[in-house]
Formats: sequence, structure tokens, C-alpha cells
Amino acid sequence: VLDLAHEYNLRVVEDSAEAHGVRPRGDIACFSLFANKIISAGEGGVCLTRDPHLAEQMAHLRAMAFTKDHSFLHKKLAYNYRMTNMQAAVALAQTEQLDVILGLRRDIEKRYDEALRDVPGITLMPPRDVLWMYDVRAERSEELRAHLADEGIETRVFFKPMSRQPGYYSPEWPELNAARLSADGFYLPTHTGLTAQDQEFITGRIRAFYGAA
Ligand SMILES: *Cc1c(COP(=O)(O)O)cnc(C)c1O
Repeated sequence: VLDLAHEYNLRVVEDSAEAHGVRPRGDIACFSLFANKIISAGEGGVCLTRDPHLAEQMAHLRAMAFTKDHSFLHKKLAYNYRMTNMQAAVALAQTEQLDVILGLRRDIEKRYDEALRDVPGITLMPPRDVLWMYDVRAERSEELRAHLADEGIETRVFFKPMSRQPGYYSPEWPELNAARLSADGFYLPTHTGLTAQDQEFITGRIRAFYGAA
């Protein structure tokens, strides 16, 4: 994507929403600070770039394209995407702890991998650079999710692919990998406060569902 974009003098805006801790490669990387992300400010996000011109443009557009002299002149149509200092402080404090947070999440990933590796019906996902939510694919996934819900274990289905969103859908779209994944994939509880015992309970219920000891 990067090679192609640069060949045509285009900029790449990278969806890094859930990838705090992964080095960006696009021209602008957008990280989410929504409530369920690795680092959260409740809402909002952060855009990173190495290009000083793009940085200036983003800061300008975020703050309603005001001129620098405080004359309340808007140089063009823009946005009010400002974040409060209080939200920023909440996110910054977590950023200082990023290594700790990522380490805890790596432990969660390892424990799920080990407990679910040999369960028939479960397909593990390839290793991740950082763990946002622990995702798996499962046979009879709807039934499994209902079984887990009965045990008080909340799960969430994968994102619906763009090609299946009403605004974009066409029956002519081929069956893409994203559509196949969203059909049987879901997220298991993933939170830095999750204990090894919590995970044992969760994976125990999954193993029981498939009749694995
Ligand atoms: C969470 C997420 C988003 C949306 O982030 P918002 O801050 O809610 O806009 C977009 N892309 C991916 C991959 C995400 O995980």
C-alpha cells in the first residue's frame, strides 16, 4: 500500500486505532483513545506524523482553522476536534505505563493461547504485535457465545466488514476474507484487570462446550 501510494504521490492514513505500542508506517497514524482501547481518555484520539507540514495542517483543522493572531478569523471550513487537558492527562498517565500495560496484555494472550490451543472447534489467530482484544474463530460460534453468556462471560463479535455495511453493500461483492472472519470470529474478555483465575474459568467453559477435558 505504501509503495503504491507513494508512486502516485498519495498520503497513507493508517488506522492504528487499537495498535498502541506498534510503530506506525503510514504518513499519518490515528490512534483511538475510546473507552475500550489499550490507552483510553474515554473518547478522542491521537494522530502522529513525521511530516511537519501535515502536523501543522492537522493542528490547524482541529482548531477551527483560526489564524494565529487570535482575531477570530477562520481561514477555511474546519472542525472543533479539541480534546480537553483533563482527558489528555488521563491518557498521558497511561502512556507512561504503556510497557506495563502491554506486558499484562501479553500475559493474557499467552494464557488464552495455551489453554485454547488444543481445543477442537477453536482456531487461534496469528500472533499479534500488541494485544487489544483476544480474538478467536469458533465452530458453532453463536451457540458458544450463548453458552458463555449463560455463565456470565461477555463476548463481542468481530467488526462487520465495510463490504457488508448497508451504505456500501452490493450483492456483487465477492466473499472476502473479512466477511468470512466476521461470520465466526469473536472477542473474549480482555482487560488488564483480568486474573489468571478469571481466564481459567472462561477457557474451562469453552473447553467444556466442545467436550474437551
Ligand atoms: C476502535 C477502532 C476504531 C474506532 O475508533 P474511534 O476512536 O471509536 O473512532 C477504528 N478502527 C479500529 C481498527 C478500531 O479498533
